[in-house]
Amino acid sequence: MQSFPTQSVATVGGARWNDPAQMVGVDEARDRILAAFAPLEPVTMPVADALGLVLAETVVAAENVPPFENAAMDGFAVRAEDTVGASPSSPRGLRVVAEIAAGYAPDATVTTGTAVRIMTGAPMPAGADTVVRFEETDEASLGREQVGIPGSTIGILREARPTENVRPAGEDVPAGTTVLTPGIRLRPAEIGLLAALGRTTVTVHRRPRVAILATGDEVVPSGEPLRPGQIRDSDSPLVAALVRRCGGDPVLLGIARDATDTVRAKLRAAGDADLLLTSGGVSMGDYDVVKDALRREGSVELWQVRIKPGKPLAFGHVGDKPLIGLPGNPVAAAVVFEQFVRPAILRLLGRTDLSIPTVRARILDRIENQGGRRHFVRVRVDPSDDGYVARLAGGQGAGVLSGLTRANGLLVVPEELKLAEPGMTLPVQMLDWDLG
Ligand code: AMP
Ligand code: MG
Repeated sequence: MQSFPTQSVATVGGARWNDPAQMVGVDEARDRILAAFAPLEPVTMPVADALGLVLAETVVAAENVPPFENAAMDGFAVRAEDTVGASPSSPRGLRVVAEIAAGYAPDATVTTGTAVRIMTGAPMPAGADTVVRFEETDEASLGREQVGIPGSTIGILREARPTENVRPAGEDVPAGTTVLTPGIRLRPAEIGLLAALGRTTVTVHRRPRVAILATGDEVVPSGEPLRPGQIRDSDSPLVAALVRRCGGDPVLLGIARDATDTVRAKLRAAGDADLLLTSGGVSMGDYDVVKDALRREGSVELWQVRIKPGKPLAFGHVGDKPLIGLPGNPVAAAVVFEQFVRPAILRLLGRTDLSIPTVRARILDRIENQGGRRHFVRVRVDPSDDGYVARLAGGQGAGVLSGLTRANGLLVVPEELKLAEPGMTLPVQMLDWDLG
């Protein structure tokens, strides 16, 4: 794991707190954080559990898919040469010798002048080279008791070409083909293909374990009565859900009181976590214990980023474990998560594209951005006749979580843009577009 020159946090005085020039830019912070992460080791697991994980092996087809030549339609397996000249006004009569349903091996052979009634997916009988669909026969005009009875006659109403409505063995994947390569993310289609190839297990990069610790004397878990001065812990469940959504396994460490030793002890108890996340305790207040704990247990490598909301983000190591200190305000925590934690987790998963799906949208509201920071504005994005439009999704305070529930995107106002006017087009990170 790479380490970085430790920023001398102790020298960052209160006077510099609001000076954007002293803060690290969003892109630089992201690069410095990401450099501490690499794909986790491969593990072999059941195919059904591997949705969203990244392949760490080359998958070569051990067998043909489909395994045998079969009917692509319900109809009659015949010899194409027996249908020459067939039409509705001059049907060709063929003697039905057998019926084959999917799942059964044919014991009949199609010889000149005969047909086998066949269902989609059933193996083609020897001798037949094409399938004539029911709709192109006179079957519908026959009585129920005559349909498919060996010895009955079926009228073919059109000329068939050889191979029509027939799926050859290996049509989808011929045996021996390389179908999936390392680095591919397993979506439902890949899960289905692996099963089609007969695979029950697959080798993928392991899911990261992400430990989450909330901090604050005022913070109590939901379900407990609130005493004066207390608030509920929304960060732990929020951050755990964000972790799970991007493919990590969250481990909740609870809530630490605002005492450095308590935070240190809880962090040490994180066991085999691949990444530590804390919330709160990273700003300039007297009780900002996460930075203290980090300093004592390892190193603070980054603190204060030119981002709004989320300026007091911290990054460092506890022993050899990376720690990202999220701000305490829930919206700030969520914004910082999307920019810095999500790509870190994706890299641990073995993903190479770490970007958030982004569209360009025309803004309908006026947005100020005075502080020289990159401003992530909670917006509602909708399609319109001339592209996407974005409107403010309610209150923009760093603690206004209800605003985030009304948003589906984060509009990105660049650092240097002090005023975004209605009608301008800006990028919007779409928060709900990255599916498994
Ligand atoms: P801090 O960074 O610790 O100064 O916290 C900033 C703000 O976030 C304060 O108003 C805290 O009360 C609030 N806060 C901290 N932790 C949580 C939490 N787990 N859930 C909800 N709000 C929190
Ligand atoms: Mg606090």
